[in-house]
Amino acid sequence: MTATPFRPVIAIHGGAGTISRTGGAADQQDAYHAALRAVLGPPQELLARGGTALDAVSLAVDLLEDCPLFNAGHGAVFTHDETHELDAAVMDGATLKAGAVGCVARIKRPARAARAVMEHTDHVLLVGTGAEALAQRLGLEMVSPDYFSTEHRREQLRRALATDKAVLDHDGASLTFRQAAPLDESRKLGTVGAVALDAQGNLAAATSTGGMTNKRPGRVGDSPLIGAGTYADNRTAAISCTGTGEMFIRTAAAYDICARMAYAGASLEQAAQAVVMDVLPAIGGRGGLVAVDRHGNVSMPFNTEGMYRGVARVGEPLQTAIFR
Ligand code: ASP
Repeated sequence: MTATPFRPVIAIHGGAGTISRTGGAADQQDAYHAALRAVLGPPQELLARGGTALDAVSLAVDLLEDCPLFNAGHGAVFTHDETHELDAAVMDGATLKAGAVGCVARIKRPARAARAVMEHTDHVLLVGTGAEALAQRLGLEMVSPDYFSTEHRREQLRRALATDKAVLDHDGASLTFRQAAPLDESRKLGTVGAVALDAQGNLAAATSTGGMTNKRPGRVGDSPLIGAGTYADNRTAAISCTGTGEMFIRTAAAYDICARMAYAGASLEQAAQAVVMDVLPAIGGRGGLVAVDRHGNVSMPFNTEGMYRGVARVGEPLQTAIFR
């Protein structure tokens, strides 16, 4: 997909995973498509009004965090100890500035806290109580940890405890939906993320997650690690990943895409396909990503059966998809 230079575009994901046994009833699939469309509309308008890529991805992730269908913010998964620990990151491709939070439990919208780290500190990553103290001091909305809990996620943890494995969100969800979600909730990676190109030619990426069901307390995934689950550089691309975080960390997955473009002259599509279809599977990595390059090309590869995803170009109809 090639666009004229700097024709603004936003792409989002709501996690990857395997198709549930039924593929989700039609009305369940419709609910996910509707949720993705509701998230894409406002940042598309923001970009059309000349808004920045950074504001567009922040707005998209705000909306995704608020939607309980996705494993970020309200509706986040549980750790082994039946607590929530959320991770988020944001990166500005124009300045290479980045901010992230890890293992936070009381910040309503972790991606906003990540942006606060970027804009109000000299640091990139703050974790736990230190991150929460900053968010509180800056007036971000704080919540009691049970704000994130849903009965559905608790049931998912009970099942995961029975297998004693950390499971990807959409892998765990099908275990609990009476009516199956389109992607197997017990085997799904439920992170959310967004990438955008604005009219000035700037790129940005943001990612937010509850992590993996039954993860050890203190575990940090790829989402808040710059270069692993999140990266943006105006010279190449903006990327937000979802999947088995440890493998994305071990392969520096997001940065690898930019490096292939910068050093080897790969196109966005070639670089993203290589990382998702070759590099990650070689070490058992499952998942996918959304990416946009400085020309507005969008790539959304995944090596699972599905990934909740959508793309909106300014002046064009929204597109959403779940399966291949
Ligand atoms: N990548 C996330 C993590 O490992 C999980 C996910 O994508 O759902 O924390």
